[in-house]
Amino acid sequence: MVTLIQNGRIITSADDYIADVLIEGETVTTIGRSLVVRADQIIDAAGKYVIPGAIDPHVHMELPFGGTVSSDDFTTGTRAAAFGGTTTVIDFAIQYKGKTFQETIDDWHAKAKGKCAIDYGFHLAITEYLPEHKAEIGKVVDQGITSFKIFLAYPGVFMVDDRTMLRVMQSAGEVGGMTLVHAENGDAISELVKNLVAAGKVEPKYHAISRPPVMQADGVARAVKVAEVARAPVFIVHVSCEAAMVELQRARDKGNRAFGETCTQYLFLDETCYDKPDFEGAKYVFTPPLVARENIEALWKGLKLGYLQEVSTDHCPFNFKGQKELGRDNFSKIPNGGPGVEDRLGMVYQGAVIERGFSLNKWVDITSTASAKMFGMFPRKGTIAVGSDADIVIFDPTRQQVRSAATHHQRCDYNLYEGMHVDGVVETVLSRGKTIIDKGEYTGRAGDGQFIQRGASGII
Ligand SMILES: [Zn+2]
Repeated sequence: MVTLIQNGRIITSADDYIADVLIEGETVTTIGRSLVVRADQIIDAAGKYVIPGAIDPHVHMELPFGGTVSSDDFTTGTRAAAFGGTTTVIDFAIQYKGKTFQETIDDWHAKAKGKCAIDYGFHLAITEYLPEHKAEIGKVVDQGITSFKIFLAYPGVFMVDDRTMLRVMQSAGEVGGMTLVHAENGDAISELVKNLVAAGKVEPKYHAISRPPVMQADGVARAVKVAEVARAPVFIVHVSCEAAMVELQRARDKGNRAFGETCTQYLFLDETCYDKPDFEGAKYVFTPPLVARENIEALWKGLKLGYLQEVSTDHCPFNFKGQKELGRDNFSKIPNGGPGVEDRLGMVYQGAVIERGFSLNKWVDITSTASAKMFGMFPRKGTIAVGSDADIVIFDPTRQQVRSAATHHQRCDYNLYEGMHVDGVVETVLSRGKTIIDKGEYTGRAGDGQFIQRGASGII
């Protein structure tokens, strides 16, 4: 299959020019002006942006959590991602107590195989790690899983102690891997939760009150310092507030390999969402919670100045009906998570480029290129270049759309950005040369997406 994309404005994290892109099979083979070639398919992209497929390095499809399972599986979640212009996701294979690393990875492969619309990878989330497991870390890296996640939250479920944090960081660092950290003070938070519930403070807003920014900042400070001692790179997931970002910034200023992301929801929404009536605040119960409005500009500034490297979603949807409702009488029983894998590229375009004057290059960087580099997929992913995978989005900046659960493809009965008008529409999406979204219609198939073997992490 030979595809020619003509006259588009090609935007990568570094370039911005008008040219034709020739795709043979799964790969970009030629880029040039007015290419004269025979093609099976010609796409006219005049007046449109031609950008690398977006990468969402933080999603949870079909994740058992809080007595239920996140409502998008690998089929529906990756298809929704494709509609939004995302062509690669990285999910978290989470080690449940008693499972080995290999069993955990095998379980996640079994869940994803043959179902995905787009390419996918895994981080391995470690919940138990003893010195005798050390050789196993290298075996995981050899399978193309080069990033490890630990939780400093959810004691008794996923949380690891500082001794384990140090071991994981050291072992991962030695084999070219990186440790991602969910940074909070899990023990103190669980005490706050217990006290609030005991005092009858059970509405959704108390989820936010039980996890104040200072508790996240505490987790970040600890993680970056332990990483410094371990002489290993560290990546803080879902940074939601300025207090936590400042700890990361401080580590970076010292020259440490400390990185971080924020998520779409923290760039648009604030804690007033929890005051919505009729238990609707539960829709915004994810961890970390939304915080005060003034943090939003700080996070955008952090992205602009490179304190934070990219924007992910932490896509982990639960339906309001039947799932979020599990916590009607107790906020600590509300499944933690929200939808967003489909919304991110367009929302970040609106927030970054339209509302704050970020360059188009920066938009591509924080939604695609930085993640490709950070997680060992560049230049195969994250750019449009000769030899790269033909993961390409054609984005029409002249059209507008309204984000809504009525029109989204995420398997979730609400949308976090319901009713928001945004500029720009994802029109056509190619995944390794195959058109999977054609002028807004899905033309792919479950199983088109392949598992991506990733290289060394943390090199940016
Ligand atoms: Zn997550």
